[in-house]
Amino acid sequence: MQTFAHLIDGKLVPGSRHFDVIDPATGSPFAACPDATRADVDAAMAAAARAFPGWARDETLRRRTLAHMSEALGAKAEEIGRLLCQEQGKPLAQAHAEVQGAARVFQLYADQPIPRDVLREDEKCRVTLVRRPLGVTAAITPWNYPVYTLVVKIAPAFLVGNTVVAKPSPFTPLSSLAMGAALAEVVPAGTLNVLGGSDEVGAWMTAHPAVRRISFTGSVPTGKKIMHAAADDLKRVTLELGGNDPAIVLPDVDPAAVAPKLFWGAFTNSGQVCVAIKRLYVHEDVYRPILGALADCARQVKMGSGLEPDTQLGPINNRPQFERVQALVEDARRHGGTVVVGGEPLPRPGYFYPPTLVTGVGEGVRLVDEEQFGTALPVIPYRDVDDALAQANRTHYGLGGSVWTRDVRRGEEIAERLECGTAWVNQHMQLGPTIPFGGMKWSGVGRENGHWGLDEFCELQVVNTARV
Ligand code: NAD
Repeated sequence: MQTFAHLIDGKLVPGSRHFDVIDPATGSPFAACPDATRADVDAAMAAAARAFPGWARDETLRRRTLAHMSEALGAKAEEIGRLLCQEQGKPLAQAHAEVQGAARVFQLYADQPIPRDVLREDEKCRVTLVRRPLGVTAAITPWNYPVYTLVVKIAPAFLVGNTVVAKPSPFTPLSSLAMGAALAEVVPAGTLNVLGGSDEVGAWMTAHPAVRRISFTGSVPTGKKIMHAAADDLKRVTLELGGNDPAIVLPDVDPAAVAPKLFWGAFTNSGQVCVAIKRLYVHEDVYRPILGALADCARQVKMGSGLEPDTQLGPINNRPQFERVQALVEDARRHGGTVVVGGEPLPRPGYFYPPTLVTGVGEGVRLVDEEQFGTALPVIPYRDVDDALAQANRTHYGLGGSVWTRDVRRGEEIAERLECGTAWVNQHMQLGPTIPFGGMKWSGVGRENGHWGLDEFCELQVVNTARV
């Protein structure tokens, strides 16, 4: 069996205790993950704090290191992608693509300028805005895109001179530990530390006095706990949290053309995407044909182990989430909902729940009000677009949303009325490392990506010099 280790102060440190990592395609353990102790957390934090001053001073070294990280991760894309497929469940090709995409992000940051703005320059003074690093960053990630999510934290943190202690989800820790091992050969000791561990380890990290900044991606309840943990010490936080994205389909669409896009907007990665479509509002004129075409997509899609070559959708990642999706569909049934397709786990080991469409539900039913984060989608008819918008916005969530129409101008007008960090027209889930990403309301605090995201890893310092 392959073994895994923490990365602490440039060394691979075997764990003194372990927990099982389950393959969601079988429901059985396939590897053991080291579970960090408090002493491991302290050692990682001390190493990151020691490495910080020299790292913060040497931009040339940081850019060179980021470029080497890109190469080192790219070289291991096959191996790490396979681990990711096994522990997360996604199809192997998508797992490889995630690792390769993450490797490109390191190179992107190696080349990204650090802005140095001159705010005023005249006979009286020169005012410059300088970006300074914060110090030790705690990076904590969830289980849906563990490699990419971690890299979009490490890369900007590194570019501006922070050091990092990272902790992946206990459901998908191995790809991050393998990434740590691959990067250990190219990063200076202490700048990057990666710990396997449970939720408790995350809590130790966020309360740790060495940490100046917390970059977190995960659920709303954990995000709130982290904000509490950060308050005493006024640590800076970025929270990328859950979503309950609405998509609003106007009556002028071509159902056959739009339905497959809606289907993949909802069910990519088996619905385990923060910005997946999670509530679908369809105008009553096109409701029947859209529902029919979505059901066809659901019946045709191939769900299976990520290692099977023709798999399009893998299992749900873990048993609690698998049970939650089932519970939400059962609750919808109890509240008068009709399951059009899906609605029962596949009769095989592992956490397979097929794409499920539910009608006859609306506000007040959990499947509509809560984030399902899995393979079940409520499809809700509407007559008046203002009413659909009101329903779409009547939520604590505000991550993404979309409008679907042939009238692009009108689509943009409606999109601007959606209360969410990203509003798409005729697409959903299109993201990029240079486009700011984050949530309104409970879906997050702060933004990732581009120069907006970079600023979150900096203190902005004004240097104001009088002319003499
Ligand atoms: P989670 O909040 O349960 O766990 C996320 C991470 O936080 C894990 O590493 C976990 O060990 C750690 N953690 C748990 N309790 C902690 C605590 N008290 N202190 C510090 N760390 C703690 O989330 P999850 O179930 O792994 O992920 C699914 C959620 O993540 C969904 O809500 C999804 O929408 C969201 N998500 C958001 C984005 C985004 O960018 N907005 C991206 C992906 C996923």
